[in-house]
Amino acid sequence: MRQREYIEKMRSVLRDRTASFGHCPTFFIETLGCQMNAKDSEKFAGILKEIGYEKAPGEFQADLVLYNTCTVRENANTKIYGHLGQLGAVKRNQNPRMRIALCGCMMQEPDEVQTVREKYPFVDLVFGTHNGFKLAELLYRMETEEGQVIDVWEGTDMIVEDLPAIRKYRFKTGVNIMYGCNNFCSYCIVPYVRGRERSRTPENILEEIRFLASDGVREVMLLGQNVNSYGKTLDPKVSFSELLSKVAQVDGIDRVRFMTSHPKDLSDDLIETMASNPRIANHIHLPLQSGSDRILQKMNRHYDTARYLEIVEKLRKSVPELQITTDLIVGFPGETEEDFQATLDMVREVRFASAFTFLYSRRTGTPAAKMPDQVPDDVANERFQRLLALVQEVGREESGKLAGRTMPVLVDEMNRQDRHLVTGRLMDNTVVHFPGGAELVGEIVPVFLRESKGFYYLGERS
Ligand code: SF4
Repeated sequence: MRQREYIEKMRSVLRDRTASFGHCPTFFIETLGCQMNAKDSEKFAGILKEIGYEKAPGEFQADLVLYNTCTVRENANTKIYGHLGQLGAVKRNQNPRMRIALCGCMMQEPDEVQTVREKYPFVDLVFGTHNGFKLAELLYRMETEEGQVIDVWEGTDMIVEDLPAIRKYRFKTGVNIMYGCNNFCSYCIVPYVRGRERSRTPENILEEIRFLASDGVREVMLLGQNVNSYGKTLDPKVSFSELLSKVAQVDGIDRVRFMTSHPKDLSDDLIETMASNPRIANHIHLPLQSGSDRILQKMNRHYDTARYLEIVEKLRKSVPELQITTDLIVGFPGETEEDFQATLDMVREVRFASAFTFLYSRRTGTPAAKMPDQVPDDVANERFQRLLALVQEVGREESGKLAGRTMPVLVDEMNRQDRHLVTGRLMDNTVVHFPGGAELVGEIVPVFLRESKGFYYLGERS
């Protein structure tokens, strides 16, 4: 209610600005990092649109620029400051009325906020990951108070429902089912900047998804840092598989995806639910991180490779034509050639359809940053190249298995390189390009997968 009042107040501020600018104020959001940030940015865009801002064609033309930051890697922070320098020059020389706001994970770090306060006085507003729902109120303060507005909360147990959001695609979207993370993997800053795990109630999630279905959404991606531990903090407890099967029953929803799954919490019930419901995607993103049990322990991952392989075996037996994708880190402190070989062995054994491969990056504030035996850059780089080559080789073979068959494709968009083609995805998440026009966007159509090109298919409508 309070935020609705601030949306109204900001509308009247915006009317004044429209009169003095000679145009309706515009906004631009730059989103860095993960799906959670992308989802937050959809909500920010929804609030800004509701206030009356219009979308600017680029950041330098915008009256309000919002950077939704990521802090998983230290060099991401350096990039933000580089970008801010450029934006500051535009504000100084071309558009003194420009407002600049920073939010997201990086702003949860007191040292970074201090840097912004001292070195970037032209930034007008700073807020964090816990209070983005207050955007209208914060903008109102920015417009009516002197100096920088800085409002960063250390944590929250609040979950705010029913705020507007603008979807990137009208027919598919992410839905937050939980916030935060309790896992404290030793290389990861997320639990420090996104706080402890909090689950939304199934009622609220289902209500949102029913609304989305009535608004034309056909595919939802359930989002959380570790969806497999969904519901543990609710009273009464609800498991992720229970939620998933309810979501898959919502009328109008044809495809349900979820991300990210932590292997330590993946239950047999979830595998059964995936196996028994054709609306649940036959794709799982299951981060392995390392193929060495010794390194997994140092990463504080709470599973070993035997457990991971056991899950993979059950999944493959139960879910037809499942595609498994993963995250892998190379060069974690103490990683030997033998540990690295164990990772290569796991890639060969599990046969991932694709993998996000990361060079370990020392992240101040995490336990791993203080570990001895940091791997020299040249060694880590060389391993990274070898891993990438293997991941690509295996991925090419795995992703091409459906060539020659006809499968349903949800069309996402017109192809960006070739306007005669459209681009969509199979249920297992593999990309397909085929001849078609804009009228197909948002439709699920049968496509003959003529040729595998490695990580995508070329097809034709059948
Ligand atoms: S599960 Fe581990 S890697 Fe994922 S967000 Fe939580 S701490 Fe980070």
